[in-house]
Amino acid sequence: MKESYVIAVLPGDGIGPEVMLEAYKILEVINNNLNVKIHTNELPIGGFAIDTCGTPFPKKTLDGCIKSDAILFGSVGGEQWSHLPRDKQPERGALLPLRQFFDLFVNIRPIKLNAALKQLSPLRGRVIKDGFDILCVRELIGGIYFGLPKGRNTFDKKNISAFDTEIYSTKEIERIANIAFKLSLKRKKKVFSIDKANVLESSVLWREVVTKVSKNFPDVQLNHLYVDNAAMQLISNPSQFDVILCSNLFGDILSDECAILTGSIGMLPSASLNKNFFGLFEPAGGSAPNLKGKKLANPIAQILSLSLLLKYSLNLNIIAEYIELAVINTLKKGYRTFDISNGQDYLSTDQMGTKIAQTLSEIIK
Ligand code: NAD
Repeated sequence: MKESYVIAVLPGDGIGPEVMLEAYKILEVINNNLNVKIHTNELPIGGFAIDTCGTPFPKKTLDGCIKSDAILFGSVGGEQWSHLPRDKQPERGALLPLRQFFDLFVNIRPIKLNAALKQLSPLRGRVIKDGFDILCVRELIGGIYFGLPKGRNTFDKKNISAFDTEIYSTKEIERIANIAFKLSLKRKKKVFSIDKANVLESSVLWREVVTKVSKNFPDVQLNHLYVDNAAMQLISNPSQFDVILCSNLFGDILSDECAILTGSIGMLPSASLNKNFFGLFEPAGGSAPNLKGKKLANPIAQILSLSLLLKYSLNLNIIAEYIELAVINTLKKGYRTFDISNGQDYLSTDQMGTKIAQTLSEIIK
């Protein structure tokens, strides 16, 4: 009997459906060659769902996600929906409710650069040393993006003020810190906690709670870094890092900085997980409307998102590693998409997906 799983597939908008086709090729290789069957249930989300179902997050999509073992997400958004009220727009109306419904409070982005692929990074070789392997762990459903009150004071129409609230509770910090420490146990056992405790009260609590949680992980080395220093250190000495633990706001900014260290946001996957490791797996980038229909999108972030899904939600670690290896080997053979090319010699989105699928077949056989 084959092990059998169902994943909800939500391609979305822009380049989402294009890069998702390449993830399907990888699934086909797995289903045809390994003792596992991964069924897919494709569902509408984002702008496509607005156009076809009248809402960015239809009930049938939620129901399909509830019945699945994990969610493989493309990307959502585009200019054509920007006139809608904010909570009806693709990102706010689809991604945020999905994260909140499934309590996806952990966001993980692995940022790896293999030494043999140094030339892809905008950093100089002597900074990259032997490559780097960073895991950015970001709190995803708390902090300033959701903190109340937020709004505007309009007492003086000539001088309006606007405000947001950065707020974290002990429990929120404890649960994300626990995940970061647990994940570090399978790595180099170093956690770098990011805050701004020299000026922010919420960061003082963050530092206190993370320090307390660290006492349960005596084998893990904890370092505290101010966010401004962390932003500098990431580009001056990235290989010193292992797990980076961040609040929602700092993680949003630093994880995009990390993304570009490997060469292109088109290569970076991300996972949003709940406490049971049910998750939504998606490329770190957005729907890239500037690339839509041009066959220029890099499918690697979507393919590696599938690899993360297998690793974290389905516990199929070895297959996840095969996929990662297929991507690395394809790049080592010199194949490039436009974003990581010299601008002249490059493969289209579908050609790159086919090359990675072929390399995966060779690895498996
Ligand atoms: P973006 O990530 O879509 O694009 C930023 C840059 O990265 C662009 O130059 C784009 O061409 C490039 N890029 C992104 N993915 C790539 C890939 N796979 N291959 C090659 N290059 C790639 O960000 P943006 O331009 O700020 O946003 C565009 C739309 O995407 C907006 O509507 C935004 O709301 C939405 N968005 C969605 C998500 C999501 O679905 N999770 C995340 C971010 C932005």
